[in-house]
Amino acid sequence: MTAVQNVAVLGSTGSIGVSTLDVIGRHPGTLRAWALAANRSVATMAEQCRRFQPSYAVMMDPDAAAELARLLGGECDTRVLAGAEGLQYIATHDSVDAVMAAVVGAAGLPSTLAAARAGKRILLANKESLVMAGHLLMAAVRDAGALLLPIDSEHNAIFQCLPVDGSGRPGLAGVSKVLLTASGGPFRQWTPAAIAAATPDQACAHPNWSMGRKISVDSATLMNKGLELIEACWLFDLAPDQVDIVVHPESIVHSMVQYTDGSVLAQLGNPDMRTPIAYGLGWPRRLDSGVAALDLVALSKLHFEAPDEARFPCLRLAREAVAAGGTAMAVCNAANEIAVEAFLCGRIGFTDIPRVIEATLEQVSTVEPTSLAVVEAADREARAVAGAQLASLRAGCVETLER
Ligand code: NDP
Repeated sequence: MTAVQNVAVLGSTGSIGVSTLDVIGRHPGTLRAWALAANRSVATMAEQCRRFQPSYAVMMDPDAAAELARLLGGECDTRVLAGAEGLQYIATHDSVDAVMAAVVGAAGLPSTLAAARAGKRILLANKESLVMAGHLLMAAVRDAGALLLPIDSEHNAIFQCLPVDGSGRPGLAGVSKVLLTASGGPFRQWTPAAIAAATPDQACAHPNWSMGRKISVDSATLMNKGLELIEACWLFDLAPDQVDIVVHPESIVHSMVQYTDGSVLAQLGNPDMRTPIAYGLGWPRRLDSGVAALDLVALSKLHFEAPDEARFPCLRLAREAVAAGGTAMAVCNAANEIAVEAFLCGRIGFTDIPRVIEATLEQVSTVEPTSLAVVEAADREARAVAGAQLASLRAGCVETLER
């Protein structure tokens, strides 16, 4: 690695991307935003280019790329690229030391996989990559000697609490379980009737974290915890029954590792993504993240409870997808993305989200995910089936989830 670490920030205009640039900006002597990428947010990207002067800026949308080039004019030396090829180019470029994978959703998979195949240090926020194609991504990491550092706060916490082997990488010696904490989301204490009437803005008003709208809805349905359960299994080579989910409304304990001797190690901190991001950027060193020190006396109490899978069926659906194996997890992820987008646009209600996912999982058959093409085909089929479910829901023909 060079003295200055060149970072490609994929999804730089989003919640994780902005926090990543905040941490990078605190360490001008050792970290450089070498390339930035986003979808369409041209104004934010232009501002980021002026401030960070990256060598490359990529916009997925070609019109947005043209607009960005026009806006930047002769102001900086940043080269503007467009589309998936541009994203892959910066994710695999020889000059890049670390890739922050923070594109939202399935759209993040090809660039994350490309970075793994190029042997990069990957800071993985895009959990959907692992959910869809965990076996492909983990194999690529192993084969190319890439380094996968989890940025999701829970997995980052687990990474920090696991024992390390001789090479400094985490192992499972003496570990009996992983305790994945969940805030419970904004509807933790809501009645089923109130949850059914929830609006997109209410679902996105997370009590502890400020995040993008898709992950905020996932948090409210608890699908986020289901995706994280799958993510934990891939990252740490765990069986699903080795991962317990514990609701912890304060989001101070970011997750725990339980050992066979009865010890439980936890990582605590204020709910601010700059902590796991700084950990990923600095590992194995610690960097200043700008996050305030934790004041346990002021907090005074921390609470823990079991998740309620009756009010939040997405957790059960994610477990069923893991149990089914193969492409079921990609199908679950795709159906969730379609349903969440429809909910955010006001086309379906909050409790329709699990209905769409369950009906899609029932209709799309599971196959062995032998290649990226197979995973992408399952993703496409699931999106088509979930789209048809949206139409059925509007016509009132999808049954309720009560069992
Ligand atoms: P946001 O919605 O805030 O940002 C998403 C980013 O991805 C934006 O920069 C967006 O660009 C870009 N993007 C969207 N579609 C594409 C595409 N097709 N190609 C390239 N770029 C694209 O999401 P978050 O930052 O909240 O989440 C990002 C990822 O991190 C998700 O996978 C999420 O699950 C994970 N994560 C997020 C956490 C958080 O605290 N936010 C915590 C843990 C994990 P544009 O602005 O132009 O649309």
